[in-house]
Amino acid sequence: SAGREGYISKTKTVCTYCGVGCTFDVWTKDRHILKVEPEHGPANGVSTCVKGKFGWDYSTSKDRLTSPLIRENDALGNTFFREASWEEAISLIAWRMNEIKAQHGPDALAFVISSKGTNEESYLKQKLARQIIGTNNVDNCSRYCQSPATQGLWRTVGYGGDSGTIKDIEAARLVLTVGSNTAESHPVLATRVKRAHKLHGQELIVVDLREHELAQRADVFLRPNPGTDFVWLNAVSRHILETGRAHQDFLDEWVNGLDEFRASLDGYTLAAAEQQTGLTQAQLRDLADRLVAASDDPQRGGVCILWAMGVTQQMGGSETSTAISNLLLLTGNYMRPGTGAYPLRGHNNVQGASDFGAMPDMVSGYQKLSDEAVRDKFSRAWNCEIRAERGLDNSQMIDAAVSGKLKALYLTGEEMSLTDSDSGHVANGLGALEFFVVQDIFFSHTAQFADVVLPASPALEKEGTFTSTERRIQRLYQVMPPLKGSKPDWEIYQLVAQALGGDWNYSHPAEVMAEAAALTPLFGGVTYERLEGYQSLCWPVNADGTDTPLLYTEGFAFPDGKARLYPATYVPRTQPPTAEFDLHLNSGRMLEHFHEGNMTFRVEGIAARIPDTFVEVSPELAAERGLRDGMYVRLISPHGAIRLRALVTDRVSGKEVYVPLNARASADTVNFLTGQGRDINTNTPAYKDTSVRMEVLGER
Ligand code: SF4
Repeated sequence: SAGREGYISKTKTVCTYCGVGCTFDVWTKDRHILKVEPEHGPANGVSTCVKGKFGWDYSTSKDRLTSPLIRENDALGNTFFREASWEEAISLIAWRMNEIKAQHGPDALAFVISSKGTNEESYLKQKLARQIIGTNNVDNCSRYCQSPATQGLWRTVGYGGDSGTIKDIEAARLVLTVGSNTAESHPVLATRVKRAHKLHGQELIVVDLREHELAQRADVFLRPNPGTDFVWLNAVSRHILETGRAHQDFLDEWVNGLDEFRASLDGYTLAAAEQQTGLTQAQLRDLADRLVAASDDPQRGGVCILWAMGVTQQMGGSETSTAISNLLLLTGNYMRPGTGAYPLRGHNNVQGASDFGAMPDMVSGYQKLSDEAVRDKFSRAWNCEIRAERGLDNSQMIDAAVSGKLKALYLTGEEMSLTDSDSGHVANGLGALEFFVVQDIFFSHTAQFADVVLPASPALEKEGTFTSTERRIQRLYQVMPPLKGSKPDWEIYQLVAQALGGDWNYSHPAEVMAEAAALTPLFGGVTYERLEGYQSLCWPVNADGTDTPLLYTEGFAFPDGKARLYPATYVPRTQPPTAEFDLHLNSGRMLEHFHEGNMTFRVEGIAARIPDTFVEVSPELAAERGLRDGMYVRLISPHGAIRLRALVTDRVSGKEVYVPLNARASADTVNFLTGQGRDINTNTPAYKDTSVRMEVLGER
């Protein structure tokens, strides 16, 4: 815990950037971070990436909020924010929420939970929404990233999480990554893959639009046409079936639905796939051969498939995720070490935010609100009436705000106005709200739309747990006390709940975890004692404390224990290039920065190294347009325009352009270009289904 004044102390924490879940000791003297040192964390051993090692100065930045702020208008109608006491801000929130609920009903309010907050904080905020306000309008930022992957896994194998741990990925005979810039987005995990590839003969196949670092190291790099992953996945499945190389014993014993699945592959011939994907029939045959050979290796693990936003942020992201899981089932790549499905989670606790109930149709542990027994259990425990109807997800909240149905939003720790798709539409929604509360550590771009801004404390200043992409629950300890004027999110939720009449008296996040565990079979045996220090637990955790690093060893998470091959549907792009918008726009992360950059631009060393964003342009396109490296361009889509410096690189090819998510000037953030298309099942924005045109501006 936080050290005594003037002394050097060492405290364990968990990284607050990506979902790999690296853990370290942080050495501090008062509020000075002296060094960050990995100490054999379960996910990272002694490794860190640049963000985990050097990316902590945002916590001690002079930009931190230290007082609640309330929006006011002066006599001339100009808007400004004035500092207010916590008492005033909390009573204003309670008064406005009560008023809006009384006038328009509970569903006029909505709650967005931070995937950077702890599990306990996710649990408390959804409890606040459901118990005290009475709405299921609750969501988190997995809506922007991995909800489609979760859907694909629910359909086929039962749990939405990664089927094993990083150790399994390391032990695989073959790793296939699809639409994942792993080396930059999940750096330490990628290091483990690179090591297995280099030292242990692991085969590595990368399928992506960009030839990024991992692609350059791969044994095979395939570059299909944008939005066609579903097609090559199904064609490979069909080819394996047709050539009699499916894993028949595994299918007989553990899998339902083979006939329907086979029928759904009708039309996915290699020839048809070649036409649509641009991959040759020889490449597809070779891919199938490699997958089958690796699946049959009795000496070591089989195939692990890793995927990320390149797959999920499409109109058919959940269908393609389903196709990935189908291919793994067909080749018998579940249930044993070194196999399985690995959607890589983006934020440090995006897994935990969903796990602990920040979803519009489920409470903690994916217990469905449509199930009467679940509603009864929570209604009794929380002494309220839990409703069955699905609430609004993030995307629907913005639509409902634009249409005037949603009146109030309480948002924590999300830069929604820059990270949701079609920033212009989001601004219209946020601007139309009658009452908007933003809780964050900085005055974010989104905060400019707020009526009340509450200063929160970052992870170094609080206790709790995070859950990584491995489903691994880990404790973080308070490294330093909250900056004067700020409070941990869980304390703020408690103040709001109490002001609204809730009987909440938590004195430590451990009590919140105890309550959540008692109500949630998935976390039955989770206690703070079992998570002491560097100990961790991968859910499901039984009441006796045994955890489950590898899922499905005794069957799949369905009543009959069998997995399901699910006939999925191809959803083609809706915004292919046209004469007016002739380039495909791709976007994503870069190693040094995280998302929009609110944290990493406040780390001096990182900001100095990568001071701004850029657009990657292929040498062919640059030559065609008379564009030189370093010149400025304007990218224009049907939704907006942004100005960027061009980086000419052969990482991208042809008419493909790539823009990292982080931008120094908010107005030049890539999501001013992306549209309102959404995955057909989960409403995840189809960020990757965007076409633009490019105007060359010159040297400035
Ligand atoms: Fe943090 Fe991810 Fe880097 Fe690990 S790999 S140090 S969790 S950003």
